[in-house]
Amino acid sequence: MSVNERTYIMIKPDGVQRGLVGNIIARFEQRLVQATEAHLENHYSDLKGKPFFPGLIKYMASGPVVAMVWQGLDAVKTGRAMLGTTNPLQSPPGSIRGDFALAVGRNICHGSDSVESAEKEIKLQGVVQYTTSLETWIFE
Ligand code: UDP
Ligand code: MG
Repeated sequence: MSVNERTYIMIKPDGVQRGLVGNIIARFEQRLVQATEAHLENHYSDLKGKPFFPGLIKYMASGPVVAMVWQGLDAVKTGRAMLGTTNPLQSPPGSIRGDFALAVGRNICHGSDSVESAEKEIKLQGVVQYTTSLETWIFE
């Protein structure tokens, strides 16, 4: 018996297509990715030199994170709108940061700020692509 024992859980195509990913992740709330400091320094390279940069990298590497890529119409702006602003105090109720966070350095979720940043961040993470059959019901 080991506290470091690992298991591989895979949500299969039927689970993904049926929109059960969030439900299943909520049940596990388990580690998916622990980013290295090198990965995070690259991810946040636009902020290198900011006073909060060393603390940000240390905190982001301190535990597991859950990484996701979402695709769709205006996905970047929609994601940012759902998150709220960087400072939770200025995030409206109903937004993720507005509802769940209190401190700028503990604002719950990252979201790409532009299409270019998203491409860079996704490439750094590494993902595969798939097409959902619901697409024609969502987009005109
Ligand atoms: N951050 C911080 N202090 C600041 C500004 C930002 O700790 O004064 C943290 C905060 O967690 C933020 C992250 O650094 O989410 C990245 O900053 P950015 O300006 O990119 O904000 P975001 O795009 O996450 O809203
Ligand atoms: Mg940012």
